[in-house]
Amino acid sequence: MHSLPPFLHHLATYLSHHTTSLPSLPLHSPLLTTFSIHAFLLKSGNLHFHLFPSLLISSYASLYPPLSLSLFRSLPSGLLSPRLFSSLLSPLSRSNPSLSLPFFPLLLSRSLLDPFLLSSLIKTCSSLRHLSFGKQSHCITILCGSSADPIVQSSLVDMYCKCGATDNARNVFDEITEKNKVVWTAMVSGYSSNGRLEEALDLFSEMPMKNLFAWTALISGFFRSGEWFSGVKIFNEMRKEGIKIDDCFILSNVISGGSHLASLELGKQLHGLVFKLGFLRSMIIGNALVDIYSKCSSISYARKVFDEIATKDVVSWTTMLVGEAQHGRADEAILLFNKMTNMGIKPNEVTFTGLIYACSHAGLVQKGRELFDSMIRDYHIKPKLQHYTCLLDLLSRSGHLSEAEDIISSMPCSPDEFTWAVLLSACNKHKDIDMGIRLSHHLLHIKPKDPSTYVLMSNAFAVAGKWDYVAKVRILMDELGTLKKEPGYTWVEVGKESFIFYAGDAPKNMKEIKDLLGELEREMRERGYIPDTSFVMHDLEEVEKVHQLSMHSERLAVAQGLLRSIPGSVIRLVKNLRICGDCHTFFKFVSDIKNRKIVVRDASRFHHFEQGSCSCGDFW
Ligand code: ZN
Ligand code: ZN
Repeated sequence: MHSLPPFLHHLATYLSHHTTSLPSLPLHSPLLTTFSIHAFLLKSGNLHFHLFPSLLISSYASLYPPLSLSLFRSLPSGLLSPRLFSSLLSPLSRSNPSLSLPFFPLLLSRSLLDPFLLSSLIKTCSSLRHLSFGKQSHCITILCGSSADPIVQSSLVDMYCKCGATDNARNVFDEITEKNKVVWTAMVSGYSSNGRLEEALDLFSEMPMKNLFAWTALISGFFRSGEWFSGVKIFNEMRKEGIKIDDCFILSNVISGGSHLASLELGKQLHGLVFKLGFLRSMIIGNALVDIYSKCSSISYARKVFDEIATKDVVSWTTMLVGEAQHGRADEAILLFNKMTNMGIKPNEVTFTGLIYACSHAGLVQKGRELFDSMIRDYHIKPKLQHYTCLLDLLSRSGHLSEAEDIISSMPCSPDEFTWAVLLSACNKHKDIDMGIRLSHHLLHIKPKDPSTYVLMSNAFAVAGKWDYVAKVRILMDELGTLKKEPGYTWVEVGKESFIFYAGDAPKNMKEIKDLLGELEREMRERGYIPDTSFVMHDLEEVEKVHQLSMHSERLAVAQGLLRSIPGSVIRLVKNLRICGDCHTFFKFVSDIKNRKIVVRDASRFHHFEQGSCSCGDFW
């Protein structure tokens, strides 16, 4: 027992001296419960009595893996049986798979491998996503003559799917003569999670007796592949098939997946379904609804759902707080933070990302700094890259550029392209030419992947008149093939209909849209608007640049919104990339000229445009 951690060693000694019968067990702590039983067995001299070691080992392997290893190693070698190995390795494959790997050579040398142990070995490879170990294990199953065992085959299918080798999985799957629901579900989920959606659907259609579990696997796989729309569509098919929804997992999953579509209509429909099925009191569902409503730019609905969640956990508070932050309501976010901490709920790292982000987008520099410090000092959270990025964003937006540069060069985690770009964007905005050049040179070294970073670098070099570097940036951008970037698109929902526009798109009613945009631009120019072409690559002609701006997808979408929606209603847009500065100005003018509220969700935050100004206060 001397290899136990000191605290547990003391506790063991104490319990073995003071307990004559099983102590009253603290049910809230399974580890302590296991430990008390362990001490009792030690004291009564029954530890080596057949069943006990394997039960203790399997409990420790789930609860506190190092202890299961100490106990295992302390047992006399005569006790070691396949069952005992299984009691260690099966839970370990889930709780801490890397700890179980060293045992397998030992098992091989003792030829102790039975189908249960083999399946633990395969599950270990699956948890570690280690394909080459997985393939070796497959070979071992053949050598042991267990490759046709149903437990082994089912573990192999699951392992190959999780390691992304769906073809290998399919080969094993096809060899199984009597396939059970679990293996069908694993194969369907494997196809859909690995983006092989047609094969997933084909196999699913062949599957006999599809239950909720199988549908959930299919839909979740579509969401994991980023196919939000199809995932929701399949959910609707499931509803038509009359599958009974008796647990809230699928619902919370669909609400989370649906939130990427940013459709308020969908949010309301799912909310209605939650009500109908009686899951309104579920915290997980409540949290998902808060998220979908914030993402559908209806922060007031989100707040309403949040207020109705009876028992809120840190995820509920954080989801609401991040929602408020993204809508630029920093005061609300800070109020929520104060409330949650007053109630004794411990914030996590996401809470602080949301808070610093909120401060950054509201220009609350001092408050942001304080929160960053408090996160480390009061809550012992080690800041990660996302916290530093928000802090740098906060400092650089508000013009504290040299403080930001000091932080980026001394922070413990290495900054990524996005972090450098945040700073460079601020340099360009605050016209700090020298720092802009320094940062651009740095970025040139790390060869950015995002085309907008190249635009930032090109602008920084152009302002300093370094045309040779401007040319170099363009060549690099072409060389890296970044021109096949994700195309910018904007989505607008008008009543029950929705329209999607790509930059430079030519929709059916193009003439109508162009006329409206032209009319708006004339009115704007009369009011003093000058197109800001610094958001377009520099080597284009000025006229071409203005034309590119006027064809940005968000402008086409807002024109469609103005043409098709009920007069006076709010126009809601979703853009996949960040809104450019010129379109931001454009929206401010439009909200005033047309006297309409426009809400834009871009890749970074929400902008609420009203009567010529934006909720972000031009901090974005
Ligand atoms: Zn734009
Ligand atoms: Zn804005």
